Amino acid sequence: MKERVFNFAAGPSVLPLEVLEKARDELVSYGDSGMSVMEMTHRGKDFAGIFQKAKSLFREVLSVPDTHEILFLQGGATLQFASIPMNLLRGGTADYAVTGVFSGKAAREAEKYGKVNLACDMSASGFDRIPDQRDLETSEDASYFYYCANNTIYGTEWHYVPEVSSALVCDMSSDILSCPVDVSRYGLIYAGAQKNIAPAGLTVVVIDRTLAGRHLDITPEVMRYDALIKNDSMLNTPPCWCIYMLTLELEWLKRQGGVTAMDELRRVRSGMIYDVLDNSGFYISMAEPGSRSFMNVTFRTPSAELDSRFVSEAEREGLVNLKGHRTTGGIRASLYNAMPPEGAAALADYMKRFEAQNRCFR
Ligand SMILES: *Cc1c(COP(=O)(O)O)cnc(C)c1O
Repeated sequence: MKERVFNFAAGPSVLPLEVLEKARDELVSYGDSGMSVMEMTHRGKDFAGIFQKAKSLFREVLSVPDTHEILFLQGGATLQFASIPMNLLRGGTADYAVTGVFSGKAAREAEKYGKVNLACDMSASGFDRIPDQRDLETSEDASYFYYCANNTIYGTEWHYVPEVSSALVCDMSSDILSCPVDVSRYGLIYAGAQKNIAPAGLTVVVIDRTLAGRHLDITPEVMRYDALIKNDSMLNTPPCWCIYMLTLELEWLKRQGGVTAMDELRRVRSGMIYDVLDNSGFYISMAEPGSRSFMNVTFRTPSAELDSRFVSEAEREGLVNLKGHRTTGGIRASLYNAMPPEGAAALADYMKRFEAQNRCFR
Protein backbone atom coordinates (compact mmCIF):
# COMPACT_ATOMS: atom_id res chain seq x y z
CA MET A 1 0.00 0.00 0.00
CA LYS A 2 1.19 3.52 -0.79
CA GLU A 3 2.30 5.55 2.21
CA ARG A 4 -0.13 8.29 3.24
CA VAL A 5 0.45 11.69 1.66
CA PHE A 6 -0.08 15.16 3.10
CA ASN A 7 -3.45 15.99 1.56
CA PHE A 8 -4.15 19.72 1.20
CA ALA A 9 -7.53 19.26 -0.52
CA ALA A 10 -10.23 21.85 0.20
CA GLY A 11 -12.95 19.23 0.61
CA PRO A 12 -13.59 16.39 0.91
CA SER A 13 -10.38 16.51 2.82
CA VAL A 14 -7.96 14.91 5.25
CA LEU A 15 -9.31 12.92 8.21
CA PRO A 16 -7.22 11.95 11.24
CA LEU A 17 -5.39 8.64 10.70
CA GLU A 18 -6.59 7.40 14.13
CA VAL A 19 -10.19 7.98 13.04
CA LEU A 20 -9.72 6.02 9.81
CA GLU A 21 -8.02 3.18 11.67
CA LYS A 22 -10.79 2.94 14.25
CA ALA A 23 -13.39 2.93 11.45
CA ARG A 24 -11.43 0.17 9.70
CA ASP A 25 -11.32 -1.93 12.87
CA GLU A 26 -15.08 -1.59 13.34
CA LEU A 27 -16.01 -1.67 9.66
CA VAL A 28 -17.30 -5.23 9.43
CA SER A 29 -18.80 -5.54 12.89
CA TYR A 30 -19.63 -2.63 15.17
CA GLY A 31 -19.41 -3.46 18.89
CA ASP A 32 -21.26 -6.71 19.50
CA SER A 33 -23.87 -6.00 16.81
CA GLY A 34 -22.38 -8.45 14.31
CA MET A 35 -22.92 -5.96 11.47
CA SER A 36 -21.40 -2.85 9.95
CA VAL A 37 -22.80 0.59 10.80
CA MET A 38 -23.53 0.78 7.05
CA GLU A 39 -25.91 -2.16 7.38
CA MET A 40 -27.87 -0.98 10.42
CA THR A 41 -31.41 0.31 10.52
CA HIS A 42 -31.43 3.89 11.70
CA ARG A 43 -34.37 3.09 13.99
CA GLY A 44 -32.51 0.34 15.88
CA LYS A 45 -30.87 0.43 19.33
CA ASP A 46 -27.26 0.29 18.07
CA PHE A 47 -27.62 3.23 15.74
CA ALA A 48 -29.66 5.17 18.31
CA GLY A 49 -26.63 4.92 20.60
CA ILE A 50 -24.31 6.26 17.89
CA PHE A 51 -26.71 9.07 17.03
CA GLN A 52 -27.13 10.25 20.63
CA LYS A 53 -23.38 10.05 21.18
CA ALA A 54 -22.74 12.22 18.10
CA LYS A 55 -25.23 14.79 19.33
CA SER A 56 -23.99 14.95 22.91
CA LEU A 57 -20.32 15.03 21.88
CA PHE A 58 -21.01 17.80 19.38
CA ARG A 59 -22.91 19.76 22.02
CA GLU A 60 -20.03 19.33 24.46
CA VAL A 61 -17.19 20.12 22.03
CA LEU A 62 -18.78 23.28 20.59
CA SER A 63 -20.46 24.26 23.92
CA VAL A 64 -23.91 24.41 22.31
CA PRO A 65 -26.42 25.82 24.83
CA ASP A 66 -29.77 24.10 25.58
CA THR A 67 -31.59 26.83 23.65
CA HIS A 68 -30.18 25.41 20.42
CA GLU A 69 -31.00 22.16 18.63
CA ILE A 70 -28.43 20.11 16.68
CA LEU A 71 -29.58 18.56 13.38
CA PHE A 72 -27.74 16.02 11.22
CA LEU A 73 -29.00 16.40 7.66
CA GLN A 74 -28.23 15.63 4.03
CA GLY A 75 -28.09 17.83 0.93
CA GLY A 76 -24.76 19.53 1.69
CA ALA A 77 -24.22 23.15 2.59
CA THR A 78 -25.84 24.05 -0.73
CA LEU A 79 -29.29 22.79 0.30
CA GLN A 80 -29.13 25.17 3.27
CA PHE A 81 -28.79 28.07 0.80
CA ALA A 82 -32.50 27.37 0.11
CA SER A 83 -33.56 25.96 3.50
CA ILE A 84 -32.51 29.09 5.35
CA PRO A 85 -34.67 31.60 3.42
CA MET A 86 -37.55 29.11 3.11
CA ASN A 87 -37.60 28.80 6.90
CA LEU A 88 -36.55 32.23 8.11
CA LEU A 89 -37.48 34.76 5.43
CA ARG A 90 -41.22 35.12 5.80
CA GLY A 91 -42.19 38.64 4.84
CA GLY A 92 -39.12 40.65 5.81
CA THR A 93 -35.75 41.28 4.27
CA ALA A 94 -32.61 39.19 4.67
CA ASP A 95 -29.20 40.84 4.89
CA TYR A 96 -26.41 38.98 3.07
CA ALA A 97 -22.71 39.73 3.38
CA VAL A 98 -21.21 38.57 0.11
CA THR A 99 -17.53 37.87 0.69
CA GLY A 100 -16.97 35.00 -1.71
CA VAL A 101 -18.42 32.37 -4.01
CA PHE A 102 -20.59 30.52 -1.51
CA SER A 103 -22.17 33.55 0.17
CA GLY A 104 -22.90 34.90 -3.33
CA LYS A 105 -24.66 31.66 -4.27
CA ALA A 106 -26.60 31.73 -1.00
CA ALA A 107 -27.77 35.31 -1.65
CA ARG A 108 -28.91 34.47 -5.19
CA GLU A 109 -30.83 31.44 -3.92
CA ALA A 110 -32.53 33.51 -1.19
CA GLU A 111 -33.76 36.03 -3.79
CA LYS A 112 -36.18 33.38 -5.04
CA TYR A 113 -38.02 33.40 -1.72
CA GLY A 114 -38.00 36.97 -0.49
CA LYS A 115 -36.26 40.31 -0.37
CA VAL A 116 -32.48 40.29 -0.14
CA ASN A 117 -30.30 43.22 0.82
CA LEU A 118 -26.55 42.94 0.19
CA ALA A 119 -25.00 44.15 3.46
CA CYS A 120 -21.73 44.16 1.54
CA ASP A 121 -20.45 42.91 -1.79
CA MET A 122 -16.71 42.42 -1.81
CA SER A 123 -16.47 41.43 -5.48
CA ALA A 124 -14.97 44.82 -6.43
CA SER A 125 -11.70 43.98 -4.64
CA GLY A 126 -11.71 40.43 -5.98
CA PHE A 127 -12.89 39.04 -2.62
CA ASP A 128 -9.46 39.57 -1.09
CA ARG A 129 -10.78 40.94 2.22
CA ILE A 130 -13.51 40.93 4.86
CA PRO A 131 -15.37 44.23 5.43
CA ASP A 132 -15.12 46.18 8.68
CA GLN A 133 -18.14 46.20 10.96
CA ARG A 134 -18.79 49.87 10.12
CA ASP A 135 -19.04 49.07 6.41
CA LEU A 136 -21.89 46.58 6.82
CA GLU A 137 -25.17 48.04 5.57
CA THR A 138 -28.00 46.27 7.35
CA SER A 139 -31.71 46.85 6.82
CA GLU A 140 -34.20 47.96 9.48
CA ASP A 141 -36.66 45.09 9.10
CA ALA A 142 -34.11 42.28 8.59
CA SER A 143 -35.25 38.75 9.47
CA TYR A 144 -31.66 37.61 9.65
CA PHE A 145 -28.07 38.52 8.75
CA TYR A 146 -26.21 35.92 6.72
CA TYR A 147 -22.46 35.52 6.37
CA CYS A 148 -19.85 32.86 5.60
CA ALA A 149 -17.21 32.67 8.34
CA ASN A 150 -14.42 31.32 6.18
CA ASN A 151 -14.18 31.75 2.43
CA THR A 152 -12.76 28.42 1.36
CA ILE A 153 -12.00 29.52 -2.20
CA TYR A 154 -10.45 32.96 -1.64
CA GLY A 155 -8.72 32.17 1.66
CA THR A 156 -10.26 34.93 3.76
CA GLU A 157 -11.91 34.60 7.17
CA TRP A 158 -13.98 36.83 9.46
CA HIS A 159 -11.92 37.61 12.54
CA TYR A 160 -14.87 39.14 14.35
CA VAL A 161 -18.53 38.25 14.83
CA PRO A 162 -20.77 40.86 13.14
CA GLU A 163 -22.88 42.93 15.57
CA VAL A 164 -26.41 42.96 14.17
CA SER A 165 -29.90 43.33 15.59
CA SER A 166 -31.45 40.46 13.59
CA ALA A 167 -30.78 36.72 13.91
CA LEU A 168 -27.21 35.85 12.97
CA VAL A 169 -26.91 33.03 10.42
CA CYS A 170 -23.51 31.64 9.54
CA ASP A 171 -22.04 29.16 7.06
CA MET A 172 -19.14 27.62 8.99
CA SER A 173 -18.49 24.78 6.53
CA SER A 174 -14.75 25.24 6.37
CA ASP A 175 -13.92 26.39 9.91
CA ILE A 176 -16.43 24.73 12.24
CA LEU A 177 -14.77 23.15 15.28
CA SER A 178 -11.48 24.92 14.48
CA CYS A 179 -11.94 27.46 17.29
CA PRO A 180 -14.30 28.25 20.18
CA VAL A 181 -17.60 29.92 19.17
CA ASP A 182 -20.15 31.67 21.37
CA VAL A 183 -23.12 29.78 19.93
CA SER A 184 -25.62 31.82 21.98
CA ARG A 185 -24.92 34.79 19.67
CA TYR A 186 -26.20 32.87 16.65
CA GLY A 187 -29.67 32.07 15.41
CA LEU A 188 -28.33 29.40 13.09
CA ILE A 189 -24.94 27.89 12.31
CA TYR A 190 -24.47 25.25 9.65
CA ALA A 191 -21.67 23.34 7.99
CA GLY A 192 -21.18 20.79 5.26
CA ALA A 193 -19.12 18.25 7.20
CA GLN A 194 -16.68 17.28 4.45
CA LYS A 195 -14.25 20.16 4.98
CA ASN A 196 -13.30 19.96 8.61
CA ILE A 197 -15.15 17.24 10.50
CA ALA A 198 -16.38 14.14 8.62
CA PRO A 199 -16.81 12.53 5.19
CA ALA A 200 -19.11 14.09 2.56
CA GLY A 201 -22.83 13.49 2.95
CA LEU A 202 -23.56 15.12 6.30
CA THR A 203 -24.64 18.69 7.03
CA VAL A 204 -24.76 19.86 10.64
CA VAL A 205 -27.27 22.58 11.54
CA VAL A 206 -27.31 24.24 14.96
CA ILE A 207 -30.48 26.29 15.37
CA ASP A 208 -32.09 28.42 18.05
CA ARG A 209 -35.39 26.57 18.60
CA THR A 210 -37.38 29.83 18.63
CA LEU A 211 -36.54 30.33 14.93
CA ALA A 212 -38.27 27.11 13.84
CA GLY A 213 -41.87 27.17 12.60
CA ARG A 214 -41.78 30.34 10.50
CA HIS A 215 -41.33 28.59 7.15
CA LEU A 216 -43.06 29.48 3.89
CA ASP A 217 -46.01 27.21 3.10
CA ILE A 218 -44.24 25.78 0.04
CA THR A 219 -41.23 24.57 2.09
CA PRO A 220 -40.74 20.82 1.51
CA GLU A 221 -41.38 18.83 4.68
CA VAL A 222 -37.82 17.46 4.64
CA MET A 223 -36.43 21.02 4.72
CA ARG A 224 -38.66 22.34 7.53
CA TYR A 225 -36.62 22.96 10.66
CA ASP A 226 -39.63 22.49 12.97
CA ALA A 227 -40.38 19.07 11.47
CA LEU A 228 -36.71 18.07 11.62
CA ILE A 229 -36.45 19.13 15.26
CA LYS A 230 -39.66 17.28 16.13
CA ASN A 231 -38.32 14.10 14.51
CA ASP A 232 -34.79 14.47 15.93
CA SER A 233 -33.31 14.63 12.36
CA MET A 234 -35.05 11.33 11.51
CA LEU A 235 -37.86 12.56 9.32
CA ASN A 236 -36.26 10.24 6.78
CA THR A 237 -33.05 8.19 6.76
CA PRO A 238 -30.16 10.26 8.09
CA PRO A 239 -26.58 9.89 6.76
CA CYS A 240 -25.82 7.08 9.22
CA TRP A 241 -22.24 6.28 8.26
CA CYS A 242 -21.19 9.94 8.31
CA ILE A 243 -22.78 10.43 11.73
CA TYR A 244 -20.79 7.45 13.01
CA MET A 245 -17.60 8.94 11.51
CA LEU A 246 -18.43 12.21 13.23
CA THR A 247 -18.47 10.46 16.62
CA LEU A 248 -14.96 9.12 15.97
CA GLU A 249 -13.80 12.56 14.85
CA LEU A 250 -15.28 14.25 17.94
CA GLU A 251 -13.66 11.71 20.29
CA TRP A 252 -10.34 12.35 18.54
CA LEU A 253 -10.84 16.11 18.80
CA LYS A 254 -11.52 15.86 22.54
CA ARG A 255 -8.34 13.83 23.04
CA GLN A 256 -6.38 16.61 21.26
CA GLY A 257 -7.70 19.22 23.70
CA GLY A 258 -10.90 20.35 21.97
CA VAL A 259 -11.55 23.50 19.99
CA THR A 260 -9.10 25.59 22.04
CA ALA A 261 -6.27 23.29 21.02
CA MET A 262 -7.53 23.33 17.42
CA ASP A 263 -7.44 27.13 17.47
CA GLU A 264 -3.80 27.14 18.56
CA LEU A 265 -2.90 24.51 15.99
CA ARG A 266 -4.55 26.32 13.08
CA ARG A 267 -2.53 29.43 13.90
CA VAL A 268 0.68 27.41 14.02
CA ARG A 269 0.01 25.61 10.72
CA SER A 270 -1.11 28.63 8.70
CA GLY A 271 1.58 30.79 10.35
CA MET A 272 4.30 28.58 8.87
CA ILE A 273 2.97 29.19 5.35
CA TYR A 274 2.23 32.92 5.81
CA ASP A 275 5.77 33.35 7.16
CA VAL A 276 7.19 31.98 3.93
CA LEU A 277 4.87 34.23 1.89
CA ASP A 278 5.77 37.35 3.88
CA ASN A 279 9.51 36.72 3.59
CA SER A 280 9.41 36.00 -0.11
CA GLY A 281 9.98 38.20 -3.15
CA PHE A 282 8.57 35.40 -5.28
CA TYR A 283 5.20 34.27 -3.93
CA ILE A 284 2.17 36.56 -3.94
CA SER A 285 -0.28 36.13 -1.07
CA MET A 286 -3.86 36.46 -2.38
CA ALA A 287 -5.71 37.61 0.77
CA GLU A 288 -5.27 40.96 2.55
CA PRO A 289 -3.13 40.37 5.68
CA GLY A 290 -5.93 41.43 8.09
CA SER A 291 -8.45 39.06 6.49
CA ARG A 292 -6.32 35.96 6.05
CA SER A 293 -7.81 32.53 6.66
CA PHE A 294 -6.33 30.12 9.19
CA MET A 295 -7.81 27.24 7.19
CA ASN A 296 -7.18 27.90 3.47
CA VAL A 297 -4.00 29.72 2.47
CA THR A 298 -4.12 31.09 -1.09
CA PHE A 299 -1.13 32.34 -3.06
CA ARG A 300 0.49 32.34 -6.47
CA THR A 301 3.92 32.33 -8.06
CA PRO A 302 4.93 34.91 -10.72
CA SER A 303 3.24 32.91 -13.52
CA ALA A 304 0.48 30.39 -14.17
CA GLU A 305 3.08 28.10 -15.68
CA LEU A 306 5.15 28.16 -12.48
CA ASP A 307 1.96 27.59 -10.47
CA SER A 308 1.37 24.31 -12.29
CA ARG A 309 4.99 23.30 -11.92
CA PHE A 310 4.77 24.08 -8.19
CA VAL A 311 1.72 21.81 -7.89
CA SER A 312 3.10 18.89 -9.92
CA GLU A 313 6.55 18.88 -8.28
CA ALA A 314 4.91 19.05 -4.83
CA GLU A 315 2.89 15.98 -5.71
CA ARG A 316 6.06 14.01 -6.27
CA GLU A 317 7.05 14.83 -2.69
CA GLY A 318 3.72 13.60 -1.30
CA LEU A 319 2.22 17.09 -0.92
CA VAL A 320 -1.00 16.74 -2.89
CA ASN A 321 -4.09 18.71 -3.97
CA LEU A 322 -2.45 22.15 -3.88
CA LYS A 323 -4.06 23.47 -7.07
CA GLY A 324 -6.17 26.59 -6.45
CA HIS A 325 -9.90 26.68 -7.18
CA ARG A 326 -10.81 26.84 -10.88
CA THR A 327 -12.28 30.32 -10.44
CA THR A 328 -9.14 31.84 -8.88
CA GLY A 329 -6.24 29.82 -10.26
CA GLY A 330 -3.02 29.89 -8.27
CA ILE A 331 -2.29 27.66 -5.33
CA ARG A 332 -4.35 26.83 -2.24
CA ALA A 333 -3.22 24.91 0.83
CA SER A 334 -6.14 23.79 2.96
CA LEU A 335 -4.97 23.23 6.51
CA TYR A 336 -7.88 21.65 8.35
CA ASN A 337 -8.06 20.20 11.88
CA ALA A 338 -6.73 16.83 10.76
CA MET A 339 -3.65 18.22 8.98
CA PRO A 340 -0.65 17.44 11.20
CA PRO A 341 1.68 20.43 11.77
CA GLU A 342 4.37 18.28 10.09
CA GLY A 343 2.35 18.62 6.87
CA ALA A 344 2.47 22.41 7.04
CA ALA A 345 6.19 22.28 7.91
CA ALA A 346 6.89 20.02 4.91
CA LEU A 347 4.99 22.43 2.64
CA ALA A 348 6.85 25.47 4.02
CA ASP A 349 10.15 23.72 3.42
CA TYR A 350 9.15 22.76 -0.12
CA MET A 351 8.04 26.35 -0.84
CA LYS A 352 11.45 27.73 0.17
CA ARG A 353 13.29 25.22 -2.01
CA PHE A 354 10.98 25.86 -4.96
CA GLU A 355 11.54 29.61 -4.63
CA ALA A 356 15.34 29.19 -4.50
CA GLN A 357 15.28 27.07 -7.65
CA ASN A 358 12.91 29.28 -9.63
CA ARG A 359 13.72 32.81 -8.44
CA CYS A 360 15.38 33.60 -11.77
CA PHE A 361 11.98 33.36 -13.53
CA ARG A 362 10.54 36.22 -11.54
C1 LIG B 1 -17.75 23.71 0.23
C2 LIG B 1 -18.54 24.80 0.77
C3 LIG B 1 -19.91 24.94 0.50
C4 LIG B 1 -20.66 23.98 -0.40
O1 LIG B 1 -20.77 22.75 0.24
P1 LIG B 1 -21.57 21.52 -0.36
O2 LIG B 1 -21.66 20.59 0.82
O3 LIG B 1 -20.78 20.98 -1.49
O4 LIG B 1 -22.92 21.99 -0.77
C5 LIG B 1 -20.58 25.99 1.08
N1 LIG B 1 -19.95 26.87 1.88
C6 LIG B 1 -18.64 26.77 2.15
C7 LIG B 1 -17.99 27.79 3.04
C8 LIG B 1 -17.89 25.74 1.61
O5 LIG B 1 -16.58 25.66 1.88
